[in-house]
Amino acid sequence: MTVASAIGTPQIFALVDVNNFYVSCERVFNPHLENRPVVVLSNNDGCCVARSSESREIGVKMGAPWFQLKELAQKHNIVALSSNYALYGSMSDRVMSILRDYSPNMETYSIDESFLSLNGLGGLWPSASAMGQSIRYRVRQWTGLPVCVGIGPSKTLAKLANHIAKKQPRFNGVCDLASMPSAQVDSLLANIGVNEVWGVGRRIGLQLHAAGITTIQQLRDAAPSWLRAKFGVVMERTGNELRGISCLALEEVAPPRKQIISSRSFGQLVHTLPELSESVATYMSSAAETLRRENSVCEAIQVFVQTNPFREQDPQYSKGITIPLPNVSSDTRLLVRAALFGLKRIYRPGFAYKKTGVMLIGIGPAAVQQLSLLPQHGAGDKSQRLMQVMDKLNGIYGRNTVSLFSAGSRKSWTMRRENMSPGYTTNWKDVPVAHAR
Ligand SMILES: [Mg+2]
Repeated sequence: MTVASAIGTPQIFALVDVNNFYVSCERVFNPHLENRPVVVLSNNDGCCVARSSESREIGVKMGAPWFQLKELAQKHNIVALSSNYALYGSMSDRVMSILRDYSPNMETYSIDESFLSLNGLGGLWPSASAMGQSIRYRVRQWTGLPVCVGIGPSKTLAKLANHIAKKQPRFNGVCDLASMPSAQVDSLLANIGVNEVWGVGRRIGLQLHAAGITTIQQLRDAAPSWLRAKFGVVMERTGNELRGISCLALEEVAPPRKQIISSRSFGQLVHTLPELSESVATYMSSAAETLRRENSVCEAIQVFVQTNPFREQDPQYSKGITIPLPNVSSDTRLLVRAALFGLKRIYRPGFAYKKTGVMLIGIGPAAVQQLSLLPQHGAGDKSQRLMQVMDKLNGIYGRNTVSLFSAGSRKSWTMRRENMSPGYTTNWKDVPVAHAR
């Protein structure tokens, strides 16, 4: 955990997020879609998974089934598009590779947003806002996509700043809470509902309201001990983050469930395709397990590889690819097959890889899976039963008791963990044994 070490050291983060990502990707290639209501639908044109701002304004709800929207669509001339995850994935990859030029420390948080650590980069720009504007301009120029940039002394504040940059046009797409006079920060925070805070969902929002906390300013100014006693340590930490005390380092918060990401840096540099394949299969297995635990399925996967940007002496390469699935699924076998297929396409020999990862895209509840007359891959009863057994065995006997052969058994690429103590309480083989004489 780096939480303790991060506390007290001043940090600065930027959150870069593409506006209405899926719809914006479509607009890049079809300008007729500008300034009119557009929605993107899930596989088989089932539900609305993305909305342009115009669609939001006329009341299209996220996740609404398309057939229920037909009337509204006719009235307002809504354009409905089928999701094109291969397009969104490759656009995402372009944005991320542009962002990598701005900071060596980056966390891809979802398909369309990334945190950048700006520590130590202050000298390169007249101000953080100037850097933000440069990011906006370059991403727009090079990909056609609109992004907003939020800057703050903690990830929670950077995320909030991004929200402000999106909602308040006077910021021109970049909001820097880190260098804003405190009176101005106060007046902003006093006028935004507490539900907009990162990690505060609807349920916790209601509890906060019941306790008299309705604005972000009130949450920020609440006593940490009171927050901890009433809502727990996570909320206490959120309060600290809002006060500008950075408690969350990069890669420390689980991404939102719109996407599932599983990715790690290797303990040592990795060169060969077989080793990369093992790691990709392993990360995908764990992502698929998470997906099933939440009773969800996904529509596409993304796999990415990356060299180490800190080793300037090495040639650098990073690439991601999105593979749409033949049908929605949460079957490890299908997801791993798709990931390895993608990996083979982006792998280039001659590079020293530092990191691989996978992302699940287009996540939706398993329950609304549509019946299809076509043969289904990694779906249906048989697949479901097999996966249930696999999850159960791994739950009882410890992680990776049952895994795909492709995930490997040597795992020489894993994180360096030579000094890790055994899983005393989580792994049967590591449970301490007492001998009596
Ligand atoms: Mg976005």
